[in-house]
Amino acid sequence: MAKEQLILEHCRYLSYAPISHSVVMESVSRMAPEYHLKRMVWDISEAEKFMPNSKERILTVFDEAGDEEELGEALEFHFRVEAEGVVVVLLYPGEIPWTQEEKEQLEVLTDITFLYLGRIRYEEMLRKSALTHFKTGLPNSAGYIAEAAKLLRRGKLKNYNALYFNLRGFGTISRRYGETEGSNIIKRYADKVREFLLPEEILGHLGGDNFVALVKKDHMQEVILYLGDVRVMAYRNSIEMPVHISSRVGVYTIPNDVQTIGDIIGLPAVALGVSRNVTHESVVFVNEDMVNRVNWQKQLEQLFAPALRNEEFQVYYQPKVDSRTNELVGAEGLVRWFHEGKMISPGDFIPPLEREGGIGQLDMYVLRHVCADIRHWVEEGLEPVTVSVNFSRRDLADEELAMQIDEIIRTFGVDRKYIQIEVTETVDELEHGMMTKFLNSLWDMNISTAIDDFGSGYSSLSTLRNFRVSVLKIDRSFINNDTLSEKDEIILRDIINMARNLGIDVITEGVERQDQLDFVNKVGCFLIQGFYYDRPLPKAKFRERLLEKKY
Ligand code: C2E
Ligand code: CA
Ligand code: CA
Repeated sequence: MAKEQLILEHCRYLSYAPISHSVVMESVSRMAPEYHLKRMVWDISEAEKFMPNSKERILTVFDEAGDEEELGEALEFHFRVEAEGVVVVLLYPGEIPWTQEEKEQLEVLTDITFLYLGRIRYEEMLRKSALTHFKTGLPNSAGYIAEAAKLLRRGKLKNYNALYFNLRGFGTISRRYGETEGSNIIKRYADKVREFLLPEEILGHLGGDNFVALVKKDHMQEVILYLGDVRVMAYRNSIEMPVHISSRVGVYTIPNDVQTIGDIIGLPAVALGVSRNVTHESVVFVNEDMVNRVNWQKQLEQLFAPALRNEEFQVYYQPKVDSRTNELVGAEGLVRWFHEGKMISPGDFIPPLEREGGIGQLDMYVLRHVCADIRHWVEEGLEPVTVSVNFSRRDLADEELAMQIDEIIRTFGVDRKYIQIEVTETVDELEHGMMTKFLNSLWDMNISTAIDDFGSGYSSLSTLRNFRVSVLKIDRSFINNDTLSEKDEIILRDIINMARNLGIDVITEGVERQDQLDFVNKVGCFLIQGFYYDRPLPKAKFRERLLEKKY
């Protein structure tokens, strides 16, 4: 077979086959069967191992992507015959005397290598773009992890701290300067921080205003100080002005015996969350408690699917009572997890499931069980009450959610008046939009809805104005304050009044004591859910309440 034809055939072969080390090996040895190819240099780190001195040449090949000249030079790849076979390495011409026959075969092999390198070059380009953030050109999470893995392999990772930081008030900056300039500011910020860090330190951009960095332990103080105030130029209406950007930072001190890179993003992220939600300090170091939380999260990811399958989750029912008549008027379905003989409370698994995404499945599971129970009670001849089921805000991203809820209710043949959907209010604009759609769909389907935990966050009157809901659930923080101020009372009274005028029912949660009940009644709310009447009850116990209906 003529050489050209051979190459053509193999060119096809190479470009169709998913390229891999073994593919090339196979194709090369088919063309030159007398050479037993042991291995082939195919990336920089491999090349380093093989020929410490050849690094430069190979780097040239990879780095000057697109430069024909440089690639031409790379054709000076040759093959050195070793005792055990052939190894493909970079050699300068003339170093080893080749026979004529060898030369011809080597030429063929060289051509294939050329094709192969072209392919690698292309893949390298793809890989690089998959590893960097398009906006800043910094490593993205995958690229950052790859860099960390390199440090780990070289035993150097222990000299670093892993940071996760987030710009304070970037939302405001971005609103003030507009989205495009906001983007530019991020880019300039990234450039400045990159410049400040040492060359051997790594800066990654996870997207938005979230950054990660591996900072040398002995350089930490300075970096923290620097991140406290980074001055970046910003332009508005062609006027240049500096903005001062500070960050919240989560810091994970990488232990000396570090074995994996698994936690270098997750752990400082947890510390950052603690900074944002709990301590409000600019810098928070990872502590043991946070490590446990992350470990629990990982464990949970393993346990959750089997737990769902094995029906380890049970629905408890907490009665809702009309305090004017002491009558049972409804209930909230609250999930409980029984795992290996002990009960895990929702506070331990709902937030991690919300972060990781499993919550949607759980909420549907609860809805199905509530529907099944109601169906069962009806079949028994009992008159059920409306049971509310919690849906996490995380679920709202699924546009079909309302339809799926409707479908489950239908499937179980339950009268929809017995089901109510609870969601917590939100200040996030994106979520706000999704929430409006969701609540409207449910409204149109005649499924009643409740805003949960009202008053716990940044409650707003716009919640009342914008959402079509049936019920407002006043958060227990409103009444569990020992020193309820006169202002609280006024606000609460007004909210209740307003809601009533809008045709929205109001229920107060977490009423435990007589004085709290009195207070709530005084401001005009009579629907009560709280330990004062009942705790969340297992199904059988709640059934007894359904029989009684009276307190
Ligand atoms: P939530 O929706 O606000 O539920 C009310 C929580 O307050 C329940 O806690 C309930 O047991 C508790 N509670 C009720 N009355 C009183 C009282 O008088 N005093 C005190 N101290 N607490 C009272 P629970 O069952 O531990 O649930 C905690 C949270 O977990 C719920 O808060 C809800 O956000 C979430 N959750 C529970 N089940 C589900 C579910 O199926 N799906 C979703 N997405 N979240 C759920
Ligand atoms: Ca609730
Ligand atoms: Ca609540």
